[in-house]
Amino acid sequence: MSTYLGMPTLAPRGVGLLRGDLPFPAAARTALADTQLRRNLGHATSTIRAKRAAVVGEVGDWEELRRAGEAIKTATMARLEEHLERLEREVAARGGVVHWARDATEANRIVTDLVRATGADEVIKVKSMVTQEIGLNDALAQAGIAAVETDLAELIVQLGGDTPSHILVPAIHRNRAEIREIFRREMPDVDPGLTDDPRALAMAARSHLRRKFLSARVAISGANFAVAETGTLLVVESEGNGRMCLTLPQTLITVMGIEKIVPTWYDLEVFLQLLPRSSTGERMNPYTSAWTGVTPDDGPQEFHLVLLDNGRTATLADPVGRTALHCIRCSACLNVCPVYERTGGHAYGSVYPGPIGAVLTPQLTGVEDNPSLPYASSLCGACFDACPVRIDIPSLLVHLRARHVEEQRAHRRTPTAEAITMAAASWVMADPGRFSAAGRAARIARPFTGRRGRIRTLPPPLSAWTSARDAPAPPPETFREWWSRTRERQ
Ligand code: SF4
Repeated sequence: MSTYLGMPTLAPRGVGLLRGDLPFPAAARTALADTQLRRNLGHATSTIRAKRAAVVGEVGDWEELRRAGEAIKTATMARLEEHLERLEREVAARGGVVHWARDATEANRIVTDLVRATGADEVIKVKSMVTQEIGLNDALAQAGIAAVETDLAELIVQLGGDTPSHILVPAIHRNRAEIREIFRREMPDVDPGLTDDPRALAMAARSHLRRKFLSARVAISGANFAVAETGTLLVVESEGNGRMCLTLPQTLITVMGIEKIVPTWYDLEVFLQLLPRSSTGERMNPYTSAWTGVTPDDGPQEFHLVLLDNGRTATLADPVGRTALHCIRCSACLNVCPVYERTGGHAYGSVYPGPIGAVLTPQLTGVEDNPSLPYASSLCGACFDACPVRIDIPSLLVHLRARHVEEQRAHRRTPTAEAITMAAASWVMADPGRFSAAGRAARIARPFTGRRGRIRTLPPPLSAWTSARDAPAPPPETFREWWSRTRERQ
């Protein structure tokens, strides 16, 4: 087993993360044609953006907080092995059991065996990205165990036979009328006269879930944070469903990515200020649940913590790319991203959509297996400005594009069409005479100009450019021609 920073480098990577076979440009084209989806997304993201801007504006030292969050994450990742071992010791000392999972397959096997041992055939779940990442619900279903999502948006997605499209608001692509239809169709005891009033929808979900909370013997959660110094796990949420899952059942199983650790409670304080303002646009989380091992006669009497790698240690090995592991899953970068706002989350074909998905997913799976996502960005920089822990996503995107190009170079005998085009462009631009001639020659593309003065389709090989974007029409006269006509005569 190879090591770096003293930690075992675990394999295989990123199992279970991908949802679609289509590369981003093809999937995005389908999403862009869905006008209802674009309306739903535009409305939802602009509402969340406005709420976030208002509460962030209240904090005088917001930039200092962001820098503190960045510094804590950088320092924690540099000594991750040490902090994880501390967490393991503290959890075990307080009656919990720690399991290590190299990948999704191992994590699913561990959780399935634990649930089977209790004899339960149904579990309740707190919203968790990491259990989506490993495809836990499907793995449990194959073992005859039903997993019931208890977060309202996750429930909508589950009942609709759908997949989440946003980190924080998984059903962001659905509007109220669509949700009412899903509830009417899928909830056995729902009032047939259910309206699309938000309160009525919430009450229908509440009564559906209440029965599940009271009968469940096992709950499964993720974790927003784990505090190494005391072995404490935390979940933050807005609905109270998490609190029910974390306190009522006899057995609690938590699956956590190894990057979610913070060394101390002082460190946690910073993130508990950054996260709610960046995610839901609230000053603090309505429910922050923390638990430490097992407390006799109070809450779950059996606690298991599954620590998941699934490509994280491989990501940590890249000194630039590793900053993607600093993410606290607030989703602020999604809400400000012009690409996400137009395509929605499904087009990314990954459990993690949006800007963070475009830099995290390819690293967890391996860039070579997922090369289109780092290009799913205009590099406008809005994600970096919004990120509460200052992850420089635009620089990461460029870094991953470079890794992709280098990998292609290393593995191909013949250069790609893009490499040939770039070499040709470099040759043309290196000489003023060639550059002028190219400007004149470009006019042959003018017949392809569309109504708005843009060229949408060009013949091969230039179609490689226009398949994903349009191009400005070449002007009837180049700048050099204009200069010599108007100035050199004077
Ligand atoms: S990358 Fe930053 S803004 Fe995006 S989800 Fe993660 S913490 Fe939030």
